[in-house]
Amino acid sequence: MSFTADLGGEAALVTGASAGLGWHFAKVLARAGAKVALAARRLDRLEALAAEIEGEGGRALPVACDVTSAASVKEAVTAAETELGPVTILVNNSGIAIVKKPLEHSEEDWDQVVDTNLKGAWLMAREVAAHLVALGKPGRIVNIASIIGLRTMGGVVSYAASKAGLIHLTHNMAMELGGRGITVNAIAPGYIETDMNREFLTSSAGEALAKRIPLRRIGQPDDLDGALLLLASSAGRYINGVVIPVDGGHLVSGL
Ligand code: NDP
Repeated sequence: MSFTADLGGEAALVTGASAGLGWHFAKVLARAGAKVALAARRLDRLEALAAEIEGEGGRALPVACDVTSAASVKEAVTAAETELGPVTILVNNSGIAIVKKPLEHSEEDWDQVVDTNLKGAWLMAREVAAHLVALGKPGRIVNIASIIGLRTMGGVVSYAASKAGLIHLTHNMAMELGGRGITVNAIAPGYIETDMNREFLTSSAGEALAKRIPLRRIGQPDDLDGALLLLASSAGRYINGVVIPVDGGHLVSGL
């Protein structure tokens, strides 16, 4: 990865930092100089990541947080601000998918997915933005959506709806918060290999899928670094309300 951005002096909060993309994003932001609050439910994993980041000379704070709870979100943002200073970069990355046919999806499945992927991102953005507005500080909110918020895909009805909702939340919050100097943008990853999908991606169906992606491969977490650093740094200061697909051309493949 050759793209670098200077985030020295900034404090970032990454949700879902206990695994996959969030774990990777936290390291990328820390390497760019940001102090990083690591939020998720599995505190032991956050502590392991904090040790890794601090071992590389960075500053990281593990914060137990369930993004579906407004009280937990409030506590996490306050803890981050107390230890690291005002959170000026928020990466709303926590997310889950439940794979079931639409008619087999239960109300509980729907609530779990939509509460985590959409309500959770809104609660976090609201809390972080409220602190920034009170302090009169600018900030960056980066929502991790999905190409499945922009196109259809079988078996993930609640996930697709939650990610489409997150994309429109991005548009609307960008419009409302721009006047406060807070940009709100989204990244829509295509298939990126993590715990969430490794089993599928290494199956024969997954391998067939990779062949249909114009770049002919599944993405790796560091394929998202350029978009993340662009939207989180001053390089992206006039970008507001956009969704950047990072998918090897999957969306334009017509498949
Ligand atoms: P993982 O399953 O590897 O990680 C999901 C993360 O979300 C975990 O850290 C988990 O932490 C956290 N999380 C889940 N529920 C909650 C909750 N209630 N409160 C706080 N944190 C929670 O997934 P990925 O890394 O693959 O995905 C990360 C994001 O990227 C998701 O939003 C996903 O939809 C999106 N994405 C991923 C793609 C991919 O191909 N991998 C493609 C497109 C989008 P814990 O369990 O400790 O709380």
